[in-house]
Amino acid sequence: MFVGHYGPSFAGKVLRQSVPLWALFLAVQLLDVFWSIFVLLGIEKVRVVPGFMAASPLDLYYMPYTHSLEGAIFWAVAGGIAYWLIRRADGWGGAGLVSVAVFSHWILDFIVHGPDLPLWGSSLKVGLGLWNYPITSFVLEISLLFGGMYLYLKRTEPLTGTGRYGMLVFGGVMAAVQAVAYFGPPPPSGRAAAIAALTSYIVFASTAYWLERKRVPRGIAQAVGGS
Ligand SMILES: [Zn+2]
Repeated sequence: MFVGHYGPSFAGKVLRQSVPLWALFLAVQLLDVFWSIFVLLGIEKVRVVPGFMAASPLDLYYMPYTHSLEGAIFWAVAGGIAYWLIRRADGWGGAGLVSVAVFSHWILDFIVHGPDLPLWGSSLKVGLGLWNYPITSFVLEISLLFGGMYLYLKRTEPLTGTGRYGMLVFGGVMAAVQAVAYFGPPPPSGRAAAIAALTSYIVFASTAYWLERKRVPRGIAQAVGGS
C-alpha cells in the first residue's frame, strides 16, 4: 500500500491536534522509510518481476527487519519512544498515537501484499493479496486517503487560500502518483523503486508540514486573525 497509509495520518491528527501532521505522515510510512534505506544498503532484498502481481511488479522476498510482524511491533514501540523523547509535552497519549500510526502500516500492507510479510524473521509469510486486483486496490487506497482527509478538513478551517485548496490539490497529486505506481511501467530496478519511495515519503511529509500551517482547528481562526 502507498497513499492509503495517509488515511490513518489524517484520522490521527483529528484525534489529537497537538501531534504534527508531518510526524504522522512519517510514522505511517516508517516501515517503508527504513525498507527503502535497507534496500539501498543491501540489508533487505527486492527484485522487479514485471507482472509479479497485477498491481505490483515487486518481488519482496526478503524484508524481515521492516515488514515482519515482530519488526512492525519493534518499530511501533521505537517510534512512540522517539516521539516521546522529542515532544514530551504531548505526553504518552501523543506517543501512543504515533505508535499506532506506525503499526497501521503493517495492517494495511497485510491487506494488499501477497504472502511476503513474515510473522517472524523471514518465515511464516502472510498477505491477503488485494494487489491481484488493481482497480479494487486503487479504490481502497484513494478511499482511505480522501476519507481521512475529509475528517481532517471537517475539523479544521483554512487561514489562507492555500489552506483552503492546498490539501485537496495535494490529495490529487498523491492520487496521480498512486495511479502511475499501479498502472504505469515497472521501475527499472529494486534500487530505483526504493529511491522513488523514499523521495515521495520525504516530499509528502514536507508538503504536509507546509500545508498544515495554513489550517487551524475549527473555531479558532478568528482568534489568530485569519479569514
Ligand atoms: Zn510497506
